[in-house]
Amino acid sequence: MNKQESGKRKRDALLLIFLLAGAAAIFIILFAVRGCGSGRKAVIKVDGNIIRECDINRDETIEVPGYAGGHNTVVVKDGQVSVTDADCPDKVCVDTGKINAPGQTIVCLPHRVVVEVK
Ligand SMILES: [Zn+2]
Repeated sequence: MNKQESGKRKRDALLLIFLLAGAAAIFIILFAVRGCGSGRKAVIKVDGNIIRECDINRDETIEVPGYAGGHNTVVVKDGQVSVTDADCPDKVCVDTGKINAPGQTIVCLPHRVVVEVK
């Protein structure tokens, strides 16, 4: 009886170690991926809908048709994203400049365009 119970406890302990090791491995992989800068994406949304997801490391120019007939030009270059041209009245999106860190955003309120790095 006692032997069985201690065996079970050992198995539980082993399982816990495996789970912790697995979690640690996942964290290490995630950090490694972030560290070398790959896997980041530029997500472009118009009025809350994702219209495009692109690899931040692949140079690209995307013409974004904004809300209410607006227009924004999103440029991905050298691992950075920027809005280089827009026909909105405030040009806040253009003035934001280049972004490249996860969580950073460029917002064009008049056109309801959001560009986010993930
Ligand atoms: Zn704008």
